[in-house]
Amino acid sequence: FIPVPSDIDIASSQTPKPIKALAEELGLAGNEYELYGQYKAKVNLSVLDRLKNRKDGKYIVVTGITPTPLGEGKSTTTIGISQALGAHLGKIAFACVRQPSQGPTFGIKGGAAGGGYSQVIPMDEFNLHLTGDIHAVTAANNLMGGARKSAAAIDARILHESTQTDKALFNRLCPLKKGERTFAPVMVKRLQKLGINKTNPDDLTSEEISKFVRLNFDPDTITWQRVMDTNDRFLRRITIGQNSTEKEFARATGFDISVASECMAILALTTDLKDMRERLGRMVVANSKDRVPITADDLGVGGALTVLLKDAIKPNLMQTLEGTPVFVHAGPFANIAHGNSSILADKIALKLAGTEEGDDETETGFVITEAGFGADIGMEKFFNIKCRMSGLIPDAVVLVATLRALKMHGGGPEVIPGKPLSGEYVEENLDLLEKGCANLIKHIQNAKKFRLPVVVAINQFTTDTEAELTLVRKIAIEAGADDAVPASHWAEGGAGAIKLAKAIVQATSNPQKNFQFLYDLNRSIIEKIEIIAKEMYGASDISLSDKAKEKVEIYTKQGFGNLPICMAKTHLSLSHDPKLKGVPTGFTVIVRDIRASVGAGFLYPLLGEMQTMPGLPTRPCFFDVDLDFESGRVVGLF
Ligand code: ADP
Repeated sequence: FIPVPSDIDIASSQTPKPIKALAEELGLAGNEYELYGQYKAKVNLSVLDRLKNRKDGKYIVVTGITPTPLGEGKSTTTIGISQALGAHLGKIAFACVRQPSQGPTFGIKGGAAGGGYSQVIPMDEFNLHLTGDIHAVTAANNLMGGARKSAAAIDARILHESTQTDKALFNRLCPLKKGERTFAPVMVKRLQKLGINKTNPDDLTSEEISKFVRLNFDPDTITWQRVMDTNDRFLRRITIGQNSTEKEFARATGFDISVASECMAILALTTDLKDMRERLGRMVVANSKDRVPITADDLGVGGALTVLLKDAIKPNLMQTLEGTPVFVHAGPFANIAHGNSSILADKIALKLAGTEEGDDETETGFVITEAGFGADIGMEKFFNIKCRMSGLIPDAVVLVATLRALKMHGGGPEVIPGKPLSGEYVEENLDLLEKGCANLIKHIQNAKKFRLPVVVAINQFTTDTEAELTLVRKIAIEAGADDAVPASHWAEGGAGAIKLAKAIVQATSNPQKNFQFLYDLNRSIIEKIEIIAKEMYGASDISLSDKAKEKVEIYTKQGFGNLPICMAKTHLSLSHDPKLKGVPTGFTVIVRDIRASVGAGFLYPLLGEMQTMPGLPTRPCFFDVDLDFESGRVVGLF
């Protein structure tokens, strides 16, 4: 093996082609993309209409075994496969990945552009502001819940409702002189919800006025948090309203990181602008004192949120180190949200990689999309939430595993991230490896429950031995994988993943699709949770806290019972306990609470404490990041 330079050194030694050239190669017309500098472009949704008659390309989801602090290389493998298919096997091959949050980029994890010779470039632009989508999400979220006495909707409304009479509120909500008043279009939705069929504000009775102007917040039920895209642990719990003008309304609240927001989940799950408008308007921010859900449209803010996100909805086109196309779009958290990049990026990529009527089927292109965390979380949500909403039917699962992570699942010792590995992790140990393969087998079986071909990608490290690779391959195939292939794309770029790419082409050559969901939406909330816990995690039972039971009752009554389930579980174990490696059995999953992202369209049961605002370690990644003034390049990102 030749030594591999650092990620940023590899990335910055390659000059990307102008993104305009890539857009033209893909057949995009000049008015179908907007340049953001030389190496990034936003692609307009109108492409979907132009290409609506094309048959979609093949749709591959990349997932992994249960993550360990050693990292399994899902992003690296996603990029490696697309480079192999696109730059070596002559296919159109898109990688679709999430936009990383600035929190982890400067915190512990670092960036998410892949690694080694399988990366998205320019890597610094990818990892930092990109085209401003996360900033737009932050702006939208905070318009709903910023500081009082600003335009921020929730707290301002509570303040105004508590200090004004019905009539005063009405006069401000529907200003102008008598006889000339009108309802803003967004108010019509609220009137419909209240069953008031009147178009002239002057016709409302005083009882109707009271219903219309009072959202009547129950402050204890406000779920909306402010967000920012920095790891700032001191904002996890704060008290707002300390200025003398708001002092009476002081309340405890907190900040989440922007990518944990519902606006981000919506960006990832929306299917067009109109749909995004509807979803943003439907978001529930609290209940009224009579337990009626209060939505963004009740607050009158749905339209403004859409305007703030109207450019963010367009997927961002970038390229790999080998010049193949990448869509970087949306980056929802994988625990309290579904952890997948956007539906729209996948849809556009599938059309651009697709075939026209009468084309040879073997000419079809590929879309390699990545799902966050392990297959029990990211893949399960990819199928049951993302594919259900997009209507797209996947063709195969690529399950990424590394020998070192399998050894950890087999009982290998804990490691300190960043510290060089030794012992069993860099020396042959077939026993430990075989034990750890139990985790791989469970994930293969899980993927098979969706009736799709499964190809195991063994992400090779320089210390892996031939005997170890052969053992994992044998175990994977015996467990039902269609193939299991070692790949060295990190060290060698696309050339190192050609065998893997060929295995994927082979596994997806059957046009017959047998895909099935894990559960039916019409099942009760509890049944859906139980199916996921038992089938995916291997739990023997589930148990709901009193609070969770109460939420089941409320959500069912409010009409949210048929939403899909987005489990907020640790990614570090198949169970809810991060310490249990391998394949835990005989455990009961405790559901502590259940919350709803009604706009995004899912309920999320909490199976433990979920951290939605990460903190910074003593030595965050930012210590290494700087500008090299001689070359003008960013250094220290990884
Ligand atoms: P994941 O998507 O599973 O979180 P990444 O693809 O981001 O993992 O990889 C995590 C880190 O591991 C990156 O810094 C990457 O460069 C490194 N890495 C990935 N694969 C390999 C490999 N085969 N050899 C050495 N380092 C690797």
